[in-house]
Amino acid sequence: MSTILKEVLAANQAYASDFGDKGKLPMPPGRRFAILTCMDARLDPAKYAGLAEGDAHVIRNAGGRASDDAIRSLVISYKLLGTREWFVVHHTDCGMETFTDDVMRKLLRSSLKTASVDASGWHDPGEGGGSAEGEHIS
Ligand SMILES: [Zn+2]
Repeated sequence: MSTILKEVLAANQAYASDFGDKGKLPMPPGRRFAILTCMDARLDPAKYAGLAEGDAHVIRNAGGRASDDAIRSLVISYKLLGTREWFVVHHTDCGMETFTDDVMRKLLRSSLKTASVDASGWHDPGEGGGSAEGEHIS
């Protein structure tokens, strides 16, 4: 078991032990809104939007894009769970601004290892084993 997994499981156990009556919250978000935002680890929607459990739907992806899947979630949020407002929240210094589809395709074609970035751009370790499936990423 990885150190990170142990940490996450311990945090979840502590969180669950203090969950109390929140397990009885209704499924529809109490404040009747949804946020679509970036997956950036520096963003904490609960903090920047003042959310507690049960308040709102939070849909996240790379760049906070209104992708087909994000729209699917927002439609369900509205049609089945009663949200009345949606907010799309972007942020400064978004990593999605650092590459293009073509850069991503080339990196994936080169290898499936984690790429690195410096002042001259993104670089793949170039150890082979890449995939042409990246051609479908947009
Ligand atoms: Zn971002």
